[in-house]
Amino acid sequence: MKPYELPAWRLREELAKGNIGVDEYVGSIFDRIERLEKALNTYITLRSREELETDVREAIRNDGKLAGVLVAVKDNIHVEDLPVTCGSRMLSNYIAPYNATVVERLVAEGAVVIGKTNMDEFAMGSTGETSAYGATRNPWDTDRVPGGSSSGSAAALAAGLATLALGSDTGGSIRLPASWTGLYGLKPSYGLVSRFGLVAYADSLEQIGPMARNTRDLALLLDVIAGFDPHDATSIREKPRGLLEAIEKGYSEELRGHRIVLVKDFLSHPGVDKAVKSILTEAASLLERLGAEVVEAELGNKVVDYALPAYYVIAMAEASSNLARYDGVRYGPKEPPRPWESWNEYYSRIRAKYFGTEVKMRIMLGSWMLSAGYRDQYYIRALKLRRLVRDQLLSLLKESDALLLPSAVTLPPRLGEVIDDPEKMYALDLANVLANLAGLPAITVPISRVAGIPMGVQLLGNYLSEPRLLRIAAALESATGLRDLVAEP
Ligand code: GLN
Repeated sequence: MKPYELPAWRLREELAKGNIGVDEYVGSIFDRIERLEKALNTYITLRSREELETDVREAIRNDGKLAGVLVAVKDNIHVEDLPVTCGSRMLSNYIAPYNATVVERLVAEGAVVIGKTNMDEFAMGSTGETSAYGATRNPWDTDRVPGGSSSGSAAALAAGLATLALGSDTGGSIRLPASWTGLYGLKPSYGLVSRFGLVAYADSLEQIGPMARNTRDLALLLDVIAGFDPHDATSIREKPRGLLEAIEKGYSEELRGHRIVLVKDFLSHPGVDKAVKSILTEAASLLERLGAEVVEAELGNKVVDYALPAYYVIAMAEASSNLARYDGVRYGPKEPPRPWESWNEYYSRIRAKYFGTEVKMRIMLGSWMLSAGYRDQYYIRALKLRRLVRDQLLSLLKESDALLLPSAVTLPPRLGEVIDDPEKMYALDLANVLANLAGLPAITVPISRVAGIPMGVQLLGNYLSEPRLLRIAAALESATGLRDLVAEP
């Protein structure tokens, strides 16, 4: 294995023992970047090779859990002194004045941030194409999108341009790109990972989470970033124990005693491709072979169909309020004072010019849905549906350890295929928004190649059941052998 292909846990050992030189590791990643970045467009900001070599050399002096490992960070997470563009022209001149808590935790364990990854503008999108910095391409098939909104994190990791990556997941933005690029991705339980230093899109739904090429790395990265943070009012004090032990169990023991519900609604849903349905049943038989009991059950009550509109109403409502701060005064490009009639005119000019189309549409729809007269019809109704989704998921989880469902419901679209049709683009999130609405953890696991792309399925668990999800994912990883995959575009 070349250094750029190595899992983080092993790389850390090899660097510490001196079996792999710092310049050899950083050089191996930079060779990939020089060869592939132009075609893939994964980074918005990339630090220099010299700086990184110095930092990695420094980092491997102490024995942190990620000592010397290069981590790609989505560009909506603050890394001190680097730009945080959020994929938007609105923040093209904004430099992070501090580190997000997750970044502090990474640095404390010796990880080194390699750069900031491309993403859909303000994390609004499912394909990576709404970025103001150009679309990212899928390294398994460069005619296709990698999925969004953590598009650059997924593509960089899948192509060997980083060893680990952070994404954020408001409605699938970690899991969708992970399941289209052969990666493992996890959306943590709401409150487990601090959001301090994450630029807010829809706070009640989103979490920062890990992306990796194998489950042990995934657990390691989660273990480092999870934990209480007084700077985030929604941060919780508990942290599930045994995240890493869960992986060892998954690798070495059977899943006997585990009961998994295959969510039947997706098997008959017209929005789910045939190929995805067969991956789902393939995953179910793998789980059975591993000793788990798999039963089919329905969420019913049209939960799956209601979840998507409920998600988009809540997400747009929260976005309209969160993005009000980009007014060209506190944040955003400052325009030289031309004569203007009012501040309103100034704000409008800035916002019209520097926000992209998808973002503007969501701000307008979100404000409208919250306005007097429409609030009850849209926002309040969406909150009720959110409760229904949560209740139904929890009732299936009462009798089981995890739910098995799709993550991506189709193959990754080709560039340009869905971007002009919001309904088509939103439909890609069908299976992913459930976990966000309910605040529950969910993990994606690659199962099988379709058209050359290692496609994943999703396991959704009870609140703080991350160790159990990781154990099941690790068992599946052993069974499929789909680990440490690096695409050769
Ligand atoms: N595609 C969804 C949206 O556009 C989810 C994005 C995300 O998780 N950040 O809202």
